[in-house]
Amino acid sequence: MDHEPTELSMLKSNSLTYMLRCIACGLLLSGCVVNPVTGQSEIGLVSTAQQISIGRQQYLPAQQMQGGLYKVDPALMAYVSGVGARVARFSGANLPYEFVVLNNSVPNAWALPGGKLAINRGLLVELRNEAELAAVLGHEVVHAAARHGAKQIERGYLLQGAVLVTAAAAGDSGVSDVLLQGAQTAAGLINQKYGRDAERESDYYGTRYLAQAGYDPYAAVSLQETFVRLSKGGNSDWMQGLFSSHPPSAERVSNNRGLVATLRREGYEGGEFAADRFQAATANLRRALPAYEAADAARTAMHAGDYREATTLIGKALALQEGEAAFHGLRGDIRFKQKRFDDAITNYDRAVARDPDYYAYYLGRGRARAEQEQRDGAKADFNRSLQLLPTTIAYLELGKIAEAEGNLEAAEQYYAAAGVRPAP
Ligand SMILES: [Zn+2]
Repeated sequence: MDHEPTELSMLKSNSLTYMLRCIACGLLLSGCVVNPVTGQSEIGLVSTAQQISIGRQQYLPAQQMQGGLYKVDPALMAYVSGVGARVARFSGANLPYEFVVLNNSVPNAWALPGGKLAINRGLLVELRNEAELAAVLGHEVVHAAARHGAKQIERGYLLQGAVLVTAAAAGDSGVSDVLLQGAQTAAGLINQKYGRDAERESDYYGTRYLAQAGYDPYAAVSLQETFVRLSKGGNSDWMQGLFSSHPPSAERVSNNRGLVATLRREGYEGGEFAADRFQAATANLRRALPAYEAADAARTAMHAGDYREATTLIGKALALQEGEAAFHGLRGDIRFKQKRFDDAITNYDRAVARDPDYYAYYLGRGRARAEQEQRDGAKADFNRSLQLLPTTIAYLELGKIAEAEGNLEAAEQYYAAAGVRPAP
């Protein structure tokens, strides 16, 4: 209760800033917009249509660079989408919301402008009930609905990225360099820090949506308590994931407690936690956890050069979850490091057969094929990987093939796209 005036006065003190900004933006003959979450007027240089367009353009590269979609359990994806839609309905912003589960062990969640959201499987396994999931998604929904990403662009933090996105959309460049930069835009958008005011706003309104959607808002408190506890463990996965953009704090816990008390007084009682439904929906994921832990350990062993250990561990992961494309892809990576290129190609084939929409399997197979002088197959693989995610390495490899084929002009273009100056 003590914390409620603090929270509200902080939100209100912003409104003066917004008013001053809007006076300024009026002078610049730019339009003010009403923030659909807060109801306040503010500068709106990036329109809703532009936010939706940025979100649509950056969603695929953002997913790709974060491990791709978690495909072995389609029911889980549908479940998370349902929970997200239930909360997002209260955001006041009419955005084409989308929610996906990413195949990534790092506990994280993010939102792009325009309502394109993602949660990693590594965060799902840390939650206890559906209301906590709704709290995570509600918080991210506010980042999109309250234009937090758009404001970062307006402030110039992501200006370069925004300009490049426009260039790519207009198609006036035709140069793949722009796409490469576009991937950096996606990285900037998902890794950005919105600032404390935006985080407070997301906690505040996200928890309100949680209650309005029929969940017990106390889940926002228990979630933050879990985060504070985990942050004390110093787990590096958390530090590079959610905690890098959302440092847990006693202040956030107490702010959320104060808000829950307010919501109770407003009559939000008897909401559900839906722990059983959540446990049932995530049962396969939790059962498969040892397989993913083995695969993560296999990757660590591979990077350390211990291919024998890496092979044993990925074998263990595959025995537990044979349908996971990423495990076949990782075995391909290990075989590639061992210069067993035929075996690597076989493993990448299996990965592509299970998930034809992840860039890394094509990139890996292309490199193995290039080693085997299978140039046409390699080129097709590199081009497919570039459609999914522009990477420097794919352009470099295409440049090397073009050079080997005597096509120096094409080679130069590929090297330029990769950001590498050709030798004089
Ligand atoms: Zn946040």
